[in-house]
Amino acid sequence: MSENGIRKVIIIGGGPAGYTAALYSARANLEPLVIEGFQWGGQLMITSDVENYPGYPDGVLGPQMMQDFRRQAERFGAEFVTDDVTRVDFSSQPLRVWTGEQEHRAETVIVATGATARQLGLPSEQRLQGRGVTYCATCDAAFYKEKTVVVVGGGDSAMEEALFLTRFASKVLLVHRRDAFRASPIMVDRVRANEAIELVLDSVVEEVLGDEKVEAVRVRNVKTGETTDLATDGIFVAIGHDPTTALFRGQLDMDDAGYLLTDGKSTVTKAPGVFAAGDVVDHVYRQAITAAGMGCQAALDAERFLAARDGGEPQPLVEEGALATPRNW
Ligand code: NAP
Repeated sequence: MSENGIRKVIIIGGGPAGYTAALYSARANLEPLVIEGFQWGGQLMITSDVENYPGYPDGVLGPQMMQDFRRQAERFGAEFVTDDVTRVDFSSQPLRVWTGEQEHRAETVIVATGATARQLGLPSEQRLQGRGVTYCATCDAAFYKEKTVVVVGGGDSAMEEALFLTRFASKVLLVHRRDAFRASPIMVDRVRANEAIELVLDSVVEEVLGDEKVEAVRVRNVKTGETTDLATDGIFVAIGHDPTTALFRGQLDMDDAGYLLTDGKSTVTKAPGVFAAGDVVDHVYRQAITAAGMGCQAALDAERFLAARDGGEPQPLVEEGALATPRNW
């Protein structure tokens, strides 16, 4: 930290993006402070086996992987505050970040606060998380070879997950609370045409059943009031995600769903010195590996920004807006 108490880098968020940004900026001697959140680790803390992160050929438990990420950043001098950020002021330099009454100041801030998968809000869902209740088919579908699974939701994510799961599971029950879908018609057509998928419409999940692992899902038909227990090996909840961006409203640009907007493929936000990485920006790929990659990009972007302030003439890594592609969905 500099003598006037202003850090070079503060990282907000303790998931794959935040810890990777910490690792890179620590190794660049930027002495980052990571305000990792009271519940650090992010979405990986509610998953069990991670088999798709390169470098772990035998798989790894999500929480263990996050501890490994954190330890690696710590090894190079990253410091951690295990608390939640309550307020930020990015309107001028130095940038200011508060945890309660405590003010932290920095020349650059990397926002890596992630997103949370929406949950059904059932105690039984919480109890069986990582033991059959999951929020990511890309991550967990392969565990359900020749099994029966339930997918909940009626948007494009639910359709995509149901279709993807049919490559592994022998039967997919798609439970949706209405009889009309929010998903695009083409996705709904594909789901309807797939014989491995059975639609359970006008139905809400009332309880996830099972002691040690998911055994069934109790659904109630909202039109008839009838409840049915659907035997299943797993439940994929695909009812959307919420980016953690309430703190930044009015300070950083966001899209309609609250995801932060960055310039082109860079991590540059509209506030000078503020960069954003991981699921707080990316609502498409949402993987630990892609978030980690963006965390690296943000650290490099912050490093370039600091070098420019110090009078150097760094080349931008990504030209302004050069790589932006229009979104077609
Ligand atoms: P979404 O479009 O917001 O859909 C969420 C779905 O979950 C809705 O059907 C909603 O039901 C249901 N739902 C919400 N809360 C629920 C609850 N508490 N209990 C039961 N059901 C609940 O979210 P998404 O599917 O994740 O998609 C997000 C965005 O990404 C969309 O713009 C989507 O088009 C896009 N996306 C596109 C693709 C693709 O094109 N390949 C793939 C994935 C996502 P209601 O309909 O009744 O509200």
